[in-house]
Amino acid sequence: MHFTSEVHFFLFMTCNDIIKYIESWAPKETAWQKDNVGLQAGAPNREVSNILLSLEVTPPVLEQAIRQNCNLIITHHPFIFTPIKTLNFDHDTQSIILQTLIKNDITLYSAHTNLDFTKDGVSFILAKKLGLQKINFLTKLKSNQFKLSVNVPVDAVDKVADAIFAAGGGIVGEYSGCSFRQKGLGTFYGSSSSNPKRGNKEKFERVDEFKLEIVVYAWKLNAAVKALKAAHPYEEPAFDVLPLENENPNHGAGAIGEFEIPLKIDDFFSQLKKNLKLSNFRYATGKSKTVKKVAVCGGSGSDLFNEAVKAGADVFVTADIKYHTFHDAVDKIWLIDAGHYETEIHVLNEMERRLKNLTKENRIKIFKYKGSTNPILFYNKEGVN
Ligand SMILES: [Zn+2]
Repeated sequence: MHFTSEVHFFLFMTCNDIIKYIESWAPKETAWQKDNVGLQAGAPNREVSNILLSLEVTPPVLEQAIRQNCNLIITHHPFIFTPIKTLNFDHDTQSIILQTLIKNDITLYSAHTNLDFTKDGVSFILAKKLGLQKINFLTKLKSNQFKLSVNVPVDAVDKVADAIFAAGGGIVGEYSGCSFRQKGLGTFYGSSSSNPKRGNKEKFERVDEFKLEIVVYAWKLNAAVKALKAAHPYEEPAFDVLPLENENPNHGAGAIGEFEIPLKIDDFFSQLKKNLKLSNFRYATGKSKTVKKVAVCGGSGSDLFNEAVKAGADVFVTADIKYHTFHDAVDKIWLIDAGHYETEIHVLNEMERRLKNLTKENRIKIFKYKGSTNPILFYNKEGVN
């Protein structure tokens, strides 16, 4: 068989392939409990033509999707948040959008608080956009990991460990393949109905074993236990699943970073305005004259105000801040409301970059919505838009 160099083969991808990738970056299970992340409407098994990214879906977003032959729309804000009780295709915008999606065979998917709570998610990208360095979460999510501890005969320890790693276990921050192995002596006595893979039944056996310990995220636990059982040579592997209270280094809320050289507050303000393309912003006066440490949270992040103060940030940039929260900030921390849309929109660049990389062997094109879905405008002397 001979292929000429002009012949190109393109692999096709389904919406599910894209969704699987997004959820390996921003696992659904980390989302806020009351959130509705994931598939909103459409067929996940559909072959992807092109993809459109937007903060939310509106009729003009749909128009662009149809024009550019996108049959997968990925938004940050979920389209379905409260139960839909009726579908009125004459008057109700949500119903009409749903009808248009179905009629045009478009799948709609949302990554919301799970995209807020991951590295290079909404807040990390906002921090990068402000030019911050040494970026980390402002507060980390807790109690979403388990320690899987299993006794394995010495000759099988690598096989069992590798199976658990392949199922997603052993991730600690930027490290993978993390395990602890300690040699010891295992004993057992198999009944007449047993089928021991080491030693004999109805005999007290001693076997050199490793105690293998591996951290597993809560949402990988079932797969890890299944992999452990499949790879383990024993009829009845002895293992423990222990819940951990630890913070998870890879998932958290908000972000904090610093400038190598502190900025004057005036310079920080003009840089913020330029980098986030703000026409205006609200703020309360803080304490420090210069800005070194900056906490951020894309979207409605007021709940993290105390965390930002505790972390010693000079400035906290977020959105949807209430009057009384501004009061709490005075002479304590520069509190800036830079707008919900303006603090979140930049994550679409990161989504675009990642999906372009993922689909580089395919014909799939990634587009961003060209207009703005921001409903909030600023009045200026040029008049009403
Ligand atoms: Zn938002």
